Amino acid sequence: MTLKTRFAPSPTGYLHIGGARTALYSWLYARKHGGKFVLRIEDTDLERSTMESVNAILEGMTWLGLEYDEGPFYQTERFDRYKEVIKQLMDSGHAYHCYCTKEELDAMREAQKANKQKPRYDGRCRARTQPREGVEPVIRFKNPQEGAVVIDDQIKGKVLVENSELDDLIIARSDGTPTYNLTVLVDDLDMGITHVIRGDDHLNNTPRQINIIRALDKQPPVYAHAPMILAEDGTKLSKRVHGEAVSVIQYRKEGYLPEALLNYLVRLGWAHGDQEIFTLDEMIELFDIKDVNNSASSINPEKLLWLNQQYIKNGDPAHIAHHLSWHMGQLGIDPAQGPDLVEVVKAQQERAKTLLEMAENSVYFYQDFDQFDENNAKKHLRPVVLEAFQAIRQAFETLEDWSAEAIHQVINDTAEKLDMKMGKIGQPLRVAVTGSGMSPSIDVTVQLIGKPRTLARLGKAIEYIEKRAANA
Ligand code: GLU
Repeated sequence: MTLKTRFAPSPTGYLHIGGARTALYSWLYARKHGGKFVLRIEDTDLERSTMESVNAILEGMTWLGLEYDEGPFYQTERFDRYKEVIKQLMDSGHAYHCYCTKEELDAMREAQKANKQKPRYDGRCRARTQPREGVEPVIRFKNPQEGAVVIDDQIKGKVLVENSELDDLIIARSDGTPTYNLTVLVDDLDMGITHVIRGDDHLNNTPRQINIIRALDKQPPVYAHAPMILAEDGTKLSKRVHGEAVSVIQYRKEGYLPEALLNYLVRLGWAHGDQEIFTLDEMIELFDIKDVNNSASSINPEKLLWLNQQYIKNGDPAHIAHHLSWHMGQLGIDPAQGPDLVEVVKAQQERAKTLLEMAENSVYFYQDFDQFDENNAKKHLRPVVLEAFQAIRQAFETLEDWSAEAIHQVINDTAEKLDMKMGKIGQPLRVAVTGSGMSPSIDVTVQLIGKPRTLARLGKAIEYIEKRAANA
């Protein structure tokens, strides 16, 4: 039998890092074992599910590169199938109509509380043979009343739950729509899922799902429940408190590389010795669901930033350029209107922790600036460099070999001729051609900016200095 895992998000928000980690673990496990990875959108909660959220999930998965072999399947397209299974459970005597009203259920709960009992449905409609006038019934699963369910969880170990702890779960609402616990197991069975890897917030549901699977005469899949990811302060990550800060797409916007985020996510709850950096192939080879930590781990933004920097520094420039291009576009820059982005990456990759930072610091390669940064201009664009600038401009005009080496030579020769130190020319020149005080080495910077832009900007700087001298 082919090993099959799935990621089954409910589209009620963006794809957050907890979900992304579950997806990654499931994906890695399938890839490791030559299996298949399925994407299933659990959109039966019609009020909370949105198309935007589905798109955000698909966008996040695509950006992370977690390609799925089957799906996306949508649960809303499978209602007929769920009805069929509910009918099967009714017909075999494993489910029954429950006519209890809200008032009745409330009273039951109050009485149980008063008796210091755990609130649970007491099964009073099990024996009912007649419908109740004017009440649309729900359908409940007849949970076994004796014995226990043992989950041989790949992360948690053996978990035993007494059936006496479980009550008769609603599997269809009074409008006939199926509930989460029913749809999830029908799909896991129908889709041939062999391994269910999910967050441990679902551990409580698992014994109920196993009981229904057994009632259907089927074998449950293998389960692995991964502990939650906590916020930095150890509290539970919540959409409400932590907002979009933990959304995968937000990490993209902030300039993280997908492989850095995947590396970070795999390490949140899993380790291989003290190795920090894993290529995808290494992850596939080394990852095992059994080795996932049984205790919750906290997010660590500094670690992610560090990893991102490593990936930017050591990554293939063409690959980084591919991702940087998206950020340039976000800044309104068309990278085709200037130097080869791969060359820009080569010049910048030692200097940026995020792609956003790299993009912001590369705008001047592609777009002219209106004004020099005021502080830098005041400090560096002074009459002492006027002669040097004029000499350099003249030499650049006739320079045919627009290479970093030749540019370096021009600057060097000018410095020597005017008896100035290189350092006294380099920074002013940087301000002149980039508008600000930060860039890669000046010769590479000038080369990438290109001849026409360099000459125009030098002209502008000369004008600025002349005006300044006139006003002095
Ligand atoms: N749809 C559920 C959720 O988003 C996951 C169900 C599962 O993995 O079994 O929490």
